[in-house]
Amino acid sequence: MDSEARDIMVEYGQFLFQRGYAVGTAGNISLKLADGDILATPTNACLGRLTAPALARVRLDGEQVSGEKMSKEIAFHLALYRARPDCGAVVHLHSTYLTALSCLENLNPEEAIKPFTPYFVMKTGRLPLIPYFRPGSPLIAEALTERLASGSACLMANHGAVALGKTLPEAVDAFEELEETAKLLFILGNNPVRYLTAGEVAELR
Ligand SMILES: [Zn+2]
Repeated sequence: MDSEARDIMVEYGQFLFQRGYAVGTAGNISLKLADGDILATPTNACLGRLTAPALARVRLDGEQVSGEKMSKEIAFHLALYRARPDCGAVVHLHSTYLTALSCLENLNPEEAIKPFTPYFVMKTGRLPLIPYFRPGSPLIAEALTERLASGSACLMANHGAVALGKTLPEAVDAFEELEETAKLLFILGNNPVRYLTAGEVAELR
């Protein structure tokens, strides 16, 4: 009954891997099933080589129902689903440019990327930042749910980023826009950038 959702997860895992957004066994994705359970990537799984039966089916409270053992980072996915009933999918990756960005000093925690393209504003809206916590720390879930009381994406200091969506394709889309925006930022480097004005951003929002 969840076989279609499992196939979608496998397909999008391969897509993210082929795009080069997921390296080795880093990164994890999940989606909410019609009955409220969560389908999530297992621990130590490569997103490019997911198999449908191995995907972990988990209750919102964290109890695992089937599949291989879920990744420990799924704990913060579950916290996001509990805090945000409108959230249908979570994508968390250590993609190259967003992770590079997350390692910079003096980022604005309210807005780690100051808007300079309309697509970033339309797809992502805003990119806040949570502080560094060791991987697996429960404080990640706490900080993320606080930062993502609204909005659809967050940067995680010295770690990576997370994007939410109503569906997995929507969350993947938002993540892709985010990663490409971070890439543009590094390409622009020290060149003077014409950022969007407050009025231009307000018009898009
Ligand atoms: Zn991570």
